[in-house]
Amino acid sequence: MTSFDEQNTVVEDTQNIKCPSCGGNTEYDPETLGLKCPFCGHEMPIEATFDHHVELDFNEAGNNLQHLWNEEKRVFSCGNCGAESVLDAHVVADFCSFCGSSHITVTDQDAGIQPGLLIPFQVSNEQAQAKFKEWIKGHFFAPNTLKKTYRLNKISGAYLPYWTYDSQTSSQYVVRVGNYYYVTETRTVYEDGKARQVTEQVRKIRWHQESGNYREFFDDILIKASHTVEPKLLQKVQPFQLTSLTDYKVEYMSGFLAERYSVSLQQGFSEAKDIMTQGIVNGIERSVAGDIVEVASLSTDYKDITYKHILLPIWISSFHFKEKIYQFIVNGQTGKVSGNYPLSAMKITSLVISILIVIFIVYLFIDS
Ligand SMILES: [Zn+2]
Ligand SMILES: [Zn+2]
Repeated sequence: MTSFDEQNTVVEDTQNIKCPSCGGNTEYDPETLGLKCPFCGHEMPIEATFDHHVELDFNEAGNNLQHLWNEEKRVFSCGNCGAESVLDAHVVADFCSFCGSSHITVTDQDAGIQPGLLIPFQVSNEQAQAKFKEWIKGHFFAPNTLKKTYRLNKISGAYLPYWTYDSQTSSQYVVRVGNYYYVTETRTVYEDGKARQVTEQVRKIRWHQESGNYREFFDDILIKASHTVEPKLLQKVQPFQLTSLTDYKVEYMSGFLAERYSVSLQQGFSEAKDIMTQGIVNGIERSVAGDIVEVASLSTDYKDITYKHILLPIWISSFHFKEKIYQFIVNGQTGKVSGNYPLSAMKITSLVISILIVIFIVYLFIDS
């Protein structure tokens, strides 16, 4: 029988916006994209804005204190998986949303740079759970007992931190360029003991070096600033529709939590540079005429570097099966699910046996 944890809801109340009709704490509701009171059902719309005026100067980031969180925040750290969550100062967290552990402590780490944009949750807690059940049923190789007896842990809505970078680049390069040419060559072949002349076209390459300048503007290079969710799982629930990015509002956080970035703004930029360098190399190879173009040396100047700190929505949970824990996630915007799950040794063995039987029958047919 499927059993659910008693408190199968997000218990961290990360923000505190009171209900005007009963005084309870309202929560962001993914179904109405507004605030909803869990006690009396009172709904309040959130006025979404899309100004996106949040490109910030990368070189000024160290001096720019106005971009830090302006609400009072605390950072909780998990002793088990290392995740750091940003929560309201008055909130007491009792478990880690990323691994379910209760070994969490308040740190004196500051909450860092405040997000400028986010994609609000569009998939509700109930919808995420339904998607998960559908997903586990669809896995042929999972044991049948799993589908009936897993125990689902608390499911938490977490905004995962990302950076985006823009930069105007200008590069000086040296390329090796190879052009094909053909020569007619005659050689002697021997057939049945007789010599014969064969004439053919042979391709050769003439190489030379060129140097030049290349400019390219890069817009919104996306870098994940978190290590808490397995990259493999996260990859499978992508993409996010970044066109839905909305200006950050405290209301979207109500009932949800934000993970603190663990990749710094500077580390993120060096990852972004690797992506841009690849783009520049491809751009140069396309723009230089020649049959083969290889970049031999490259020196790039990055100007007008700006960044944004954005948050993307993920439902995170895990389930227990035979004393093991398996993590799974649901994309909070699209509902796509991915997770780890146990494999049934019995089902895999019977599949292998069926394949062997088929091969054997085919073999008998061919042989007869
Ligand atoms: Zn109320
Ligand atoms: Zn944890």
